[in-house]
Amino acid sequence: MAADAGRSSNTAVLNGARAVVTAGAAGIGRAIADAFAVAGARIAVCDVDEAALTAFREARPDAIAVEADVSQEASLGAFLDRIEADWGGADIVVANAGIGGPAGAVETIAFDDWKACLAVNLDGAFLTCRWAARVLKAQQSGLLLLTASTAGLFGYPKRSPYAAAKWGVVGLMKTLAMELGPHGVRVNALCPGAVDGPRMDRVVAREAQAHDVDEAAIRRRYVDGVSMKTWVTAEEVADAALFLASPAGAKISGQALAIDGNTQTLAP
Ligand code: NAD
Repeated sequence: MAADAGRSSNTAVLNGARAVVTAGAAGIGRAIADAFAVAGARIAVCDVDEAALTAFREARPDAIAVEADVSQEASLGAFLDRIEADWGGADIVVANAGIGGPAGAVETIAFDDWKACLAVNLDGAFLTCRWAARVLKAQQSGLLLLTASTAGLFGYPKRSPYAAAKWGVVGLMKTLAMELGPHGVRVNALCPGAVDGPRMDRVVAREAQAHDVDEAAIRRRYVDGVSMKTWVTAEEVADAALFLASPAGAKISGQALAIDGNTQTLAP
């Protein structure tokens, strides 16, 4: 028997699977949606950025691409209702939406900024997972992926709202893996390190101000705390998502998978 007999190629590994990605029109969500589409999945994304959605629709005219804010129950609900109406369910749900939130010592954080950060990162994950749990449980199969962060695995000075939200996301993942496992549903979290791109440019600028140092120093700090001395790309995060969604991930659940070159500390 050939050594690779029985193994599937990545190009059809998700063959017809129905994949939902929140905040899927740009950044990590877009990279995941693209990787899943190339692997043969049908794709539905939501996002709050109309320009990014327009570009997404042009690139993937067969996909469902809807303007929806994950932190607003009615807005997200309309997107999820549309998926149920069009597809009758889903096989892979990625609760990916998140924002960086404010940077600064905890005593300087405005309550409204704290709440806004938790609303997108944690309320949005809860609302997406609540829908996914009902749909996937009814089917007795599927994968629920949450985008957490290395900030959900370590203390993160001057980023307390984001760290608290992402530890919450990991807690949600751990709990739902236990609730849904008996129903054939897997639940995992992706924990990316610093991803090169416009979002981290904004985060670095805010942290430079909060720490009163220049941006180059903040960029060096991110690499200093990582064993492999590297940032990561959105495509590398998407590769990990594809692995978890593929048959190779069939028995992986309850895991917070870091894609980060091994973070040792997020403390400056
Ligand atoms: P991003 O800032 O590039 O934004 C991606 C998309 O999210 C954008 O199109 C934006 O419009 C959309 N979005 C923002 N708020 C939304 C909302 N309320 N509802 C729906 N869509 C919304 O973000 P990203 O870097 O791709 O991050 C995606 C996820 O990965 C987040 O959960 C983030 O916390 C996490 N993460 C990012 C990094 C990083 O370095 N970029 C590292 C670790 C974890």
